[in-house]
Amino acid sequence: MNVTATTRVLTLLGDPISHSASPEVQNAAFQAAGVDGIYVAVRCASDDLVGFMKGLARAGGGGNVTLPHKEKAASLLDVRSEAVRRTGACNTFWGDEEGRLHGDNTDVDGFRRALRAFIGGNARGMRVLLLGAGGAARAALLGLLEEGSDEVLIFNRTQDRARAVARRIGGDRTRVVPVLRELERESFDLVVNATRLGLDTNDPSPLDLKILQRAGAAMDLIYGRHVTPFVRSAEAAGVRSTDGREMLVQQGAASFERWWGREAPIDAMRAAVGVVGT
Ligand code: NAP
Repeated sequence: MNVTATTRVLTLLGDPISHSASPEVQNAAFQAAGVDGIYVAVRCASDDLVGFMKGLARAGGGGNVTLPHKEKAASLLDVRSEAVRRTGACNTFWGDEEGRLHGDNTDVDGFRRALRAFIGGNARGMRVLLLGAGGAARAALLGLLEEGSDEVLIFNRTQDRARAVARRIGGDRTRVVPVLRELERESFDLVVNATRLGLDTNDPSPLDLKILQRAGAAMDLIYGRHVTPFVRSAEAAGVRSTDGREMLVQQGAASFERWWGREAPIDAMRAAVGVVGT
């Protein structure tokens, strides 16, 4: 990589950021595509977010935003994508020649593309159980509805948060399940883990998939160097599963396309996180 005075600086802004694989994924992509950019992770306090985002974008750069700043980032934008408007979260930003700050939430596109790669098509007609009600769950819910799911049931530890997500994004194809016991006689084509359970190797699975009448497939949004507890639970229940690495690659590819206006070198990005191409 040849860093010069014209190199564009793209950053990951969040706190903590040390666990993120985005620098490996994006720098591999920049190199494979031969674009003049460098991607670095910067631990950033909430009060510093506005300065970083506006300064970087005006300097021709941009970046990603991660926990806990995605909602604040959405409020700072001059131009919001449909995904930002509907989820209230921004994970990708860049500037334009008039100095305006643009943002998108590529977790939505990333989830949709990873889902298609996993199930081999869209989610038309599917009945889905979504675990969680944070930022990742909001992106997954919008993605599931846009991919044509028939019905999405949401279960979250904090029920009020699930209700708020269902109200904001869900419409009449979404229902909140108040207690896990209610799921015992239910069948789903797909179960998605969008909680943060599994980030630590010792976390329990957010759900024992054996309690369900049937689960067709299980998709974890968590990724790491370990087999995630949700994927382990799926394997124990004989359910086909995947972890969050393909979504990481796909949301990164969508971000790359926003910054560079060209297709992302997806195979190089997959190789950087050890995902076998589909
Ligand atoms: P978030 O907004 O903080 O939401 C966390 C979610 O996890 C909430 O639903 C929360 O429930 C639940 N949770 C936390 N601790 C729990 C526990 N002990 N028991 C049960 N539920 C618990 O975080 P987020 O932005 O949605 O991110 C969630 C995970 O998705 C992160 O680990 C992140 O790495 C992953 N993610 C992956 C990708 C990817 O590209 N693969 C993209 C985005 C996010 P409460 O509402 O009850 O607190």
